[in-house]
Amino acid sequence: MSLRLPQTAAASLAILALCGSCASAEKPQQPREAAEPIAVRPAATPAPASAPIPPPAPERPFFAYQGELEQGGWIRGLVPSNTRTALLGGQEVEFAEDGSFFAAFDRDQGPQIELVATLDDGGTVSRTLTIAPRDWDLEYVNVPYRAGRSSAEFRRLREGEIAQIVAARAQETGAEGWRQDFIWPATGRISGRFGSQRVYQGKPGPYHSGLDIAQPTGTPYKAPADGVVTLVAQDPFTLEGKLLMIDHGMGLNSAFLHSATIVVREGQRVRQGQYLGTIGATGRATGPHLHWSLKWRDSRLDPLLFLGPMPD
Ligand SMILES: [Zn+2]
Repeated sequence: MSLRLPQTAAASLAILALCGSCASAEKPQQPREAAEPIAVRPAATPAPASAPIPPPAPERPFFAYQGELEQGGWIRGLVPSNTRTALLGGQEVEFAEDGSFFAAFDRDQGPQIELVATLDDGGTVSRTLTIAPRDWDLEYVNVPYRAGRSSAEFRRLREGEIAQIVAARAQETGAEGWRQDFIWPATGRISGRFGSQRVYQGKPGPYHSGLDIAQPTGTPYKAPADGVVTLVAQDPFTLEGKLLMIDHGMGLNSAFLHSATIVVREGQRVRQGQYLGTIGATGRATGPHLHWSLKWRDSRLDPLLFLGPMPD
């Protein structure tokens, strides 16, 4: 099942793709219903035996896309006509029957990345994307980096937890949330930004992998886009606590950490805006907040680049 992008949207995507700076400035468009083709024929002509054949879709010899071309950002668009396979920097880019695709850029993505399509006739179409660097929030501290102490018991538990997370991310559900403009799962004070990092005497520690929204325990949160539930950890994980993971399709998925409660179950299809659970402080958390991570394949993404301004 797939939505068709109307020709007008396809045309505007094509124009944007030719102008790198406009492409990143433009806000994403929601796909709209394609208008029915109108058959025009002289009145005197007798009705044909079968329905009129719509004109063939115009050939698209290049990638058409728009989005946020910066570290932690993403693009949506259309692959060239007759594309057999597509790659972004060596990672597979899946596309729908109508040629629509989604791809994204890791937090540490370099200044350029190649988008390549291999066509049915063996030819290739490639485009070099310029990815704007981000001014990540770095905090320099004059103490040596110390990884948290871990007991044999912790390592044993952690191995099992990570295996479940990896298995959840590997699921392909056919969800279509990747086509949507995302909404805020909860609103509130932003208590942690994606990508922020401490640097210990010159040695960078791990960076913050999601967006933190602080709210009291028990505050409900909702699905930012359509998806399928791939993991519900009702027994809190050591770090993530009660963890919920949702696949949005095409390799894009969300994780919600530290929940107090989760009200959906694995395998359940959820709609954008659907109530998923409540905010809490389970796992490793200093206070109640929703930690929301987004990943596309191996790339970690900035949820803020998927959202409009926070609603009141
Ligand atoms: Zn966090």
